[in-house]
Amino acid sequence: MTTTTTELFLDGSWTGGGAGTFTAVNPSTGEAITEIASADAQDVNTAVAAATRALRGDWAAVPPSGKGALLHRLADLVERDADTLARLEALELGVPFGFASALFVPNLIGSLRYYAGWADKVNGEVISSDGYFGAPTHAYTRREPIGVIAAIVPWNAPLMILGWKLAPALATGNAVIVKPAEDATLSILHLAKLVQEAGFPSGTVQVLPGIGAVTGEALAVHPGVHKVSFTGSTETGRRILRNSAVNFKRTTLELGGKSPQVIFEDADLPSAIQGAAMGLFSNQGQVCAAGTRILVHRDVYDAVLDGLKAAAEAQVVGDPFDQATTMGPLVNGSQRDKVLGYVEKGKAEGATLVTGGSPVGGPGFFVNPAVFAGTNEHTIAREEIFGPVGTVIPFDNDAEAVALANDNDYGLAATVWTTDLGRAHSVSAALQAGAIGVNGWSPLGPQLPWGGLKASGVGRELGYEGVLANTEVKTVTIVL
Ligand code: NAD
Repeated sequence: MTTTTTELFLDGSWTGGGAGTFTAVNPSTGEAITEIASADAQDVNTAVAAATRALRGDWAAVPPSGKGALLHRLADLVERDADTLARLEALELGVPFGFASALFVPNLIGSLRYYAGWADKVNGEVISSDGYFGAPTHAYTRREPIGVIAAIVPWNAPLMILGWKLAPALATGNAVIVKPAEDATLSILHLAKLVQEAGFPSGTVQVLPGIGAVTGEALAVHPGVHKVSFTGSTETGRRILRNSAVNFKRTTLELGGKSPQVIFEDADLPSAIQGAAMGLFSNQGQVCAAGTRILVHRDVYDAVLDGLKAAAEAQVVGDPFDQATTMGPLVNGSQRDKVLGYVEKGKAEGATLVTGGSPVGGPGFFVNPAVFAGTNEHTIAREEIFGPVGTVIPFDNDAEAVALANDNDYGLAATVWTTDLGRAHSVSAALQAGAIGVNGWSPLGPQLPWGGLKASGVGRELGYEGVLANTEVKTVTIVL
């Protein structure tokens, strides 16, 4: 196993950052873990120049099957260091170690292997055309790399979300500059060590930790960056879209959510309650697809509310490294305060707090999970909280359920709980969301396209959509 570094991974070497350092904090204790090098705009210039050289030289020279082999080699190394990577995420994010081990790291491995398979299967098409002023033609398309891609990553699932960006971008021949989030850098720096060990040419993958407004901003405005693949808040996404206009960068924006979970009266209730609780409390509710609006048919409303109250009270909030823990701390103090502020707002607006919503005493940023009985008009049911706070809302018929589900600015994901197959299809078709789970909250996999409608974003990642999103189409017409 390699030792985790705290420096920038720039043009194949490890170096300090022009903007000094920032502090990584352990959210379970509030204490500093280490200082991490912080990149400035000059470091971004250096990285873009190195990425451009790789694209014109050593990386371009690696044949498609060789690119696939490198991705498989990286997946092998991630498998070897899976324990370390999951530990770093538990330490820095507070996610329970078991959750990071069971989901975040395997999901990264899955993305690397899935796109390793694509690397030598990215083909153009031969086009039937009407010819050129009476002469016949042979026309075809090429799918080419976009170029230098900035992958800007949030803190809530760093390795998993980076995998959605890195693997398809590399499989299709791009060079990637990674900007991790300030609160979640260490696991990505360890991954950079594995990139180096796997033998990717210098400049193909670089990692620039830093502050969003400095490093992220410099990447978004840089004329040598051809695409920004961003996951994070809707507000930052808007800013990146504006900044990307300088050179018409391609953008993929995976933004926030306020996803509904619709529980019909014919649902398998124990599964629905268990799944709805998973959608509320996984990763402390710091999940873009968190199912925080639980819409329930009035016939089963009381049973679901009781079930979710019991599920919240059964959560074990504590040390992420303790095997019994199901919920760790929130990622930092301001996130904890934001979540507690929403709980107060919910109470002040007249929603009924059924359980939880209080800070846990002692060090660290722990909060007891909260369940409210409320309406779709309450602020807690309209805005993304990004914490373990759910609102349970009644409905009387399918049309009302769909109207309530769609009555929100976001449109990332939705879950439908029913045993009626026809209802499953018709409600799925009517919901305004990029990904629908029926009888399972937020199914994820490298083969399944992911992304949102409305304020939840632009474009799709994963699956074949991920290949398309990382390539440009060039049309070649030969007049015969
Ligand atoms: P954030 O927008 O604050 O930060 C995300 C990243 O952007 C960080 O690396 C940050 O440093 C960087 N950044 C900040 N300002 C920037 C700027 N001006 N220019 C360029 N980069 C900048 O988001 P966060 O708090 O890290 O993450 C939480 C958000 O991410 C939530 O809204 C959540 O819903 C969303 N999210 C969405 C998905 C999805 O797939 N749709 C997945 C996970 C998280």
